[in-house]
Amino acid sequence: MIYLNGKFMPIEEACIPVLDRGFIFGDGVYEVIPVYSRKPFRLIEHLNRLQHSLDGIRLKNPFSNDEWSHLLEQLIAKNDGEDQYIYLHITRGVAKRDHAFPQVPPTIFIMSNPLLPPPAELLVSGASAITATDNRWIRCDVKAISLLPNVLLRQMAVDVQAVETILIRDGFLTEGAASNIFVVKDKMLLAPPKSHLMLPGITYDVVLELAAANQIAHEVREVSETEIRAADEILLTSSTKEIMPITKLDGKPVGNGKPGTMFSQLHDLYQQYKATRMRGFSS
Ligand code: PMP
Repeated sequence: MIYLNGKFMPIEEACIPVLDRGFIFGDGVYEVIPVYSRKPFRLIEHLNRLQHSLDGIRLKNPFSNDEWSHLLEQLIAKNDGEDQYIYLHITRGVAKRDHAFPQVPPTIFIMSNPLLPPPAELLVSGASAITATDNRWIRCDVKAISLLPNVLLRQMAVDVQAVETILIRDGFLTEGAASNIFVVKDKMLLAPPKSHLMLPGITYDVVLELAAANQIAHEVREVSETEIRAADEILLTSSTKEIMPITKLDGKPVGNGKPGTMFSQLHDLYQQYKATRMRGFSS
């Protein structure tokens, strides 16, 4: 069951007009929210980021946080699975094709799919990634539905059986095509600072909070391409992949080529944090 413009319906029945500005211009924003034990994880943080994205494209938020929360609760109840992930999408609506903003209601689409944990094999042996020049626009902090550059960059990884493309702009790490990236050197966790050049990841925030709360040495600062290539560990984070070790970069082993101790520690802390959140809080 999905939600489209005020109604719940089976996805097969959901239709939008071809003149929707999401279809014509990619004129919209989205969010992906993991749901564990039927409870949205870090919901307020996701809704705050949605507001930031809507502000970034000058589109009014159609709902209050309470309304979003109620809507998501209903959608989760209508779908199978304790663990799900919500995809939520708002476009500037349907209008005659013209770049100028129309005065029409937005299109609001929400779906929920089963959330499967990353394959155990990837957590045990690690995953491969490649690097590429970050050729996206310079408002990567906006979670825009126009993802063509991300699609092309991610496909470069898929073409060589890698899981992600790590992006480098002007000699520095930005993020992955669909994830945030951390580098570990001499037991120090390094994270590129949030800016308009990367998406402020919700999982990225959780990892930094866990590092701070557990006396894990960490620094938020620019990470150079040289440092990526000399890393002891590389970690990938996203709401659906959680924390994943990257053990091969551009065909060469990262560190000793195995998931490292920083990965194990943060992975365990993340699982504990999730369990505590699900027991104690509603989001
Ligand atoms: N950067 C990009 C470009 C992404 O698409 C994602 C995944 N949505 C992330 C980072 C990770 O963000 P989050 O932890 O909020 O899923």
